[in-house]
Amino acid sequence: MPYKYDDQNIFAKILRGEIPNDTVVETEHTLAFNDIGPKAPVHVLVVPKGSYVNHDHFHSRATDAEILDFVRVTARIIADKGLAPGAGGSGYRVIGNAGPHGLQEVPHYHLHILGGRPLGAMVPDA
Ligand code: AMP
Repeated sequence: MPYKYDDQNIFAKILRGEIPNDTVVETEHTLAFNDIGPKAPVHVLVVPKGSYVNHDHFHSRATDAEILDFVRVTARIIADKGLAPGAGGSGYRVIGNAGPHGLQEVPHYHLHILGGRPLGAMVPDA
């Protein structure tokens, strides 16, 4: 079944400028801002500006320009925050939640960049 995009979700409102955000990076296709409830010293959300629900929706429907911009912005934030292990950083985690098993809360595609402390197990044991 094709995805239906709910344009009343909170990130859609942020992208329309109806709700403020703490912007980290903004480009033509991508907005990144600090998570309102940070789970680590660095907790940035990277959000494509287009109307995509989740990772598979974005990567199957977005233009190459949107995808390239999104990936590059993600890497730029990791570098700018000093998290990249290849440049002396202590590492990070990138998470994209989707659907009920992924416990996605906001139905507009986003990646979480988390870092600045040891992040523990990737997934809790069942
Ligand atoms: P997810 O479960 O992957 O959909 O995560 C949604 C994330 O959005 C959570 O980490 C929330 O803390 C975050 N969030 C919700 N509302 C806002 C907001 N207005 N500004 C910034 N982050 C938000």
